[in-house]
Amino acid sequence: MKPIHLIAALGLVLAASAGAAHAQGVDKLYVLDCGQGHATDRSLWSPGVDVNVAFDVSDNCYLIHHGQDYLLWDTGVTDAIADKPEGMPAPRPGATAWKKPKTLAGQLAQLGVKPSDIKFLAVSHTHPDHVGNVELFPQSMLLVQKAEYEWPNPLGVGRFKPEHPVTKLEGDHDVFGDGSVMLIATPGHTPGHQSLMVKLPKTGVVILSGDAVHFKANWDNRGVPSLNVDKDKTLASMQRLADLMAKTHAQLWINHDKPQSDTQKHAPEYYE
Ligand SMILES: [Zn+2]
Repeated sequence: MKPIHLIAALGLVLAASAGAAHAQGVDKLYVLDCGQGHATDRSLWSPGVDVNVAFDVSDNCYLIHHGQDYLLWDTGVTDAIADKPEGMPAPRPGATAWKKPKTLAGQLAQLGVKPSDIKFLAVSHTHPDHVGNVELFPQSMLLVQKAEYEWPNPLGVGRFKPEHPVTKLEGDHDVFGDGSVMLIATPGHTPGHQSLMVKLPKTGVVILSGDAVHFKANWDNRGVPSLNVDKDKTLASMQRLADLMAKTHAQLWINHDKPQSDTQKHAPEYYE
């Protein structure tokens, strides 16, 4: 090939790769079933309201594809529950009993995604229904708020294995550096709770609540669960999400709101 043609060909390659880079961003968001819960007293999450009213909760994980990379948001209750047909009973009265008809590992395998394909693993907070499968992904970079990572555990051990790769965040974080996936600090439920804002090309902006709010009635009434570590911070975080929604016209996807989850497409279908 003559030099001039080589230069022209190189130019084409560069233009093509620049075009590909430009087309990056999030192209798929999968909703995964990471546990099905049942609790006997809804008022634990909304003090004074719905005393002794039983209800079902969803527990979703979300897989986000960006360019060549995957981010997994939350990991649900442990896959070990799937081996028990009766599930995991509530550890104390009023707490949540869990069943796991599908494992997280199985749902990822169905999508052809290996644990080592997960580049980033971000968790909203460290309650067991969100961090139950973190160690399925020992190579994935954990994105967690420093305040959550360092929150003393009553068992006197760390909340994560010390050898797990981690980036300890202090506030909001732009995961891919292009504004398409933003971790939003929403403390209150726990000291370092965070939510996730995802910009999808067709669906628009979606905010994944984590447990900044547990179900729609709580959101509408600004109800604060009795087990939250800080009521004022919880209310400030809800307001922050409301302001972000107003600014970006975002939808709010409330992780534990089963009626809402039931209306959503679940994997292998996806949002784009
Ligand atoms: Zn939860």
